[in-house]
Amino acid sequence: MRITDIKVSEVPLDTDISNAVINFAKMTVSMVAVYTDKVVDGEPVVGYGFHSNGRYAQSGLLETRLLPRLKAASNEELLDAETGLIDPVAVRQVAMRNEKPGGHGDRAVAVGTLDMAMWDAAAKAAGQPLYRLLHDRFSPGAPIPETVSVYAAGGYYRDGGDVSALQQEIKDYLSLGYKDVKMKIGGAPLDADVERIEAVLDILPDDSRLAVDANGRFGLRTALDYAAALENYDLVWYEEPCDPLDYQTHAAIASEYSGVLATGENLFSVSEVRNMARHGGLRPGQDVLQMDPCLSYGVSEFVSMLEVLDAHGWKPDRCYPHGGHQYNLSISAAFGLGGCESYPRVFEPFGGFADETPITNGQVRLPDAPGIGIEHKSALRDLFNQQF
Ligand code: MG
Repeated sequence: MRITDIKVSEVPLDTDISNAVINFAKMTVSMVAVYTDKVVDGEPVVGYGFHSNGRYAQSGLLETRLLPRLKAASNEELLDAETGLIDPVAVRQVAMRNEKPGGHGDRAVAVGTLDMAMWDAAAKAAGQPLYRLLHDRFSPGAPIPETVSVYAAGGYYRDGGDVSALQQEIKDYLSLGYKDVKMKIGGAPLDADVERIEAVLDILPDDSRLAVDANGRFGLRTALDYAAALENYDLVWYEEPCDPLDYQTHAAIASEYSGVLATGENLFSVSEVRNMARHGGLRPGQDVLQMDPCLSYGVSEFVSMLEVLDAHGWKPDRCYPHGGHQYNLSISAAFGLGGCESYPRVFEPFGGFADETPITNGQVRLPDAPGIGIEHKSALRDLFNQQF
């Protein structure tokens, strides 16, 4: 097997919504296609990747640093010696040549985007769904679930949005088959957010629960004011109350708030996760971590994160990756994670799962198709066909 070409494209996310910190109207997404000479069912294997919402496209890093290193490498350096197929772990090592430790940021996003495309190609070449390939390589012997728990992340601040529009949005998610939902907080004063939270709780059925997400907006004092207000409700979790890298403030909030805290979607490396485990004061049996593999160097970094977390008493089922797409769905199944995020009706066509696997009772079935399953999400397949 040989990689014959790698192409990169950049498209607008085209979603005019806001959380407490950013608006998504100008957000862009990188798309990657990895072409190979491996023929399966009469067609050469092509692997596809993109990155999760919330970070901008990485065209420069991909085109000027990462791809030239892959092109300069020998074919053997990119392959699994045993199977002769692409080895995404080896590809990542080549892509990261001459990169210093630390300073992860956008580089982690660029590598993660490339990683998704490499795993899609590797799984297609092996004729396996990605979750099974990952399971067999990294977690052999562990049970594979038939479905993965997903929750609907929405409740953004929209221009002209009022409480009844928010209620309608949440009802729509329930009608799609979701049970638990998440809404944004921190983009309005506390009393207005309390009104929004109560409006959503008013319409949730008994078997549905609500999570709230402040997107890292608060300092300690405001985070604790919100924590005191949120103690009144039975929430799934209180997400990113403070700066994602401020471990001491996390610890201070965790010492006051008795509910579940969630964070991690902006931790992009194993060293940041290690620092959170060491210094963040989070409670391994209670709190939730949300690292997103395609924003943080991909699968092999995520495996290292799980190892570090295990050493600090965290089990994989406390992880619920940010991102809401098929790559993280496969990773959630392969590693026995607690579930994963989903963004119904926003961040399309990147968000969501295969057309033939609708959400049922808050669960989504795993795809049978080889690879990530992008070809089984028609709007996303069409966009890849249009770009490449
Ligand atoms: Mg979040």
